[in-house]
Amino acid sequence: MVQDTAVQQGPVYLDANATEPLRPAARAAMLAGLEQTGNPSSVHAAGRRARIMLEEARQTMASAFGREADCCVFTSGGTEADTLALHGFGRAEGRAILIGATEHDAIRKAAPEASLIPVDGQGVIDCMALEEMLAAHTPGTGDRPGPLVCIMAANNETGVYAPLRDVASLCRQHGAFLHVDAVQAAGRMQERDEFSLALKDGSLAGASLALSAHKMGGPKGAGALLLPEDRPLAPLLPGGGQERGRRGGTSALASHMGMAAALEESRKQDWTLLEALRDELEGVMVQAGALIMGHGVARLSNTISAVLPGVAAQMQLMALDIEGYCVSAGSACSSGKVARSHVLEAMGQGEAAGQAIRVSLPWNAEAGAVRAFGQVYALMAQRFAGRGLLKRSSLQGGGRAT
Ligand code: PLP
Repeated sequence: MVQDTAVQQGPVYLDANATEPLRPAARAAMLAGLEQTGNPSSVHAAGRRARIMLEEARQTMASAFGREADCCVFTSGGTEADTLALHGFGRAEGRAILIGATEHDAIRKAAPEASLIPVDGQGVIDCMALEEMLAAHTPGTGDRPGPLVCIMAANNETGVYAPLRDVASLCRQHGAFLHVDAVQAAGRMQERDEFSLALKDGSLAGASLALSAHKMGGPKGAGALLLPEDRPLAPLLPGGGQERGRRGGTSALASHMGMAAALEESRKQDWTLLEALRDELEGVMVQAGALIMGHGVARLSNTISAVLPGVAAQMQLMALDIEGYCVSAGSACSSGKVARSHVLEAMGQGEAAGQAIRVSLPWNAEAGAVRAFGQVYALMAQRFAGRGLLKRSSLQGGGRAT
């Protein structure tokens, strides 16, 4: 739903990959959930009513990805879903862990011992390297079960999709368990994207999927881990045995109802409209001197990772913030300072790693506001050029010619 209205008042929000604005349907579902007094685990009438609503949300989440409802474990978000997969399928089962070099910290920080699977200059997983790494771990050659492989469906900084069908096929051949961090891809699915295609042709039938409500237009602090089958999983939080013993703690009914509603709404959205707006903006940014990371490969329809060669990301963010635009650097640490992007570093774009900003259009982006941002960006680039900061780039294969 791209709105073609006049430029909106107040800051313009273009940081959807950090969190999407709440969808009205999600808000309505949450309000209905908040009205429920019962604990879904209680056996009395109030509990049973809450339980029915929770199970409806579970059914919605699971069936959207071709799973049985009992395969859906509700969590507090994407971070917990990823950590649960690493714990339950990885450490608890004694598997070696292999992760993509551009994974989110939700995976990286939870598996510091993991081996990194390299990516190419566009940020795409190197399947030949993965195959070699898997061959070294094939069951039968050691005393461990096959490794756990964690790959993100779409990267949060560049939007680049992983070649999931090839990755899944390699994992099957080598007896590896595949966990897919689908946090950025799941609420922005288009028929032809790699994540959708991999789901459709059954490639991901044996994989677990991590989901996060607030990246779909649902509430912050809710998520799910979808298991390939209804099976036990060593919990991080044993608690009272909720979620069939796989995640203890009283269910966040309203949040999970909001997540299911957001997911359903995201399925109805025509993402091609947002993509056209993104492409238009990207063209303006390139004209202004930006280099686009991952421009040559399939990406999320809403995401731009743009480098202004020579200009620190922090300076760009400050300039755009003063003009009233909320965008982000590739990576922000909890102190609020801009860190060098490990994603761009893994892509071999070392110099660019501190000069990239991410513009990610929200589901309700207003065309007028996005176009106005393009103008402001171009003026900013001109100012930096006037001060002798903006340089011609020496990027390795990831940029787009100006
Ligand atoms: N995985 C990816 C790819 C993400 O982008 C994020 C959040 O930015 C997460 C995991 C963590 O999700 P959550 O914020 O729900 O914990």
